Amino acid sequence: MNRMSGDFGWIWKSAVASLRVAAWMVGTVWLGGAGIVRLVRFARSLPSLRASHLVCPRGHESAAYGIFECTSASPAHLMEGWVFSRCDVCGQSAGWTPCQSCGLPIRNPLGRI
Ligand SMILES: [Zn+2]
Ligand SMILES: [Zn+2]
Repeated sequence: MNRMSGDFGWIWKSAVASLRVAAWMVGTVWLGGAGIVRLVRFARSLPSLRASHLVCPRGHESAAYGIFECTSASPAHLMEGWVFSRCDVCGQSAGWTPCQSCGLPIRNPLGRI
């Protein structure tokens, strides 16, 4: 009887041990998956470079492509294309552009080049 319960105890202990390993693996995979999901969400939340629209701090959308007035050099002149691209005339890129709805500055996601 004693020997029987001893055997059972050993089996029980290894069963618990393998359950623990399984739980650890599931937990690791789960956390890893959650980490990847978080990474993807973070990447999606990044201001998408060269998006067709810019969003100001108040949530208005402004066109990112079109004809803009470049005031980087004097006299101010017009430029065409992506608002933050390098200007053909003066070779500068804008550090920010005013929102077309409220005028709040929308910063260049690349920083001033
Ligand atoms: Zn210019
Ligand atoms: Zn705005």
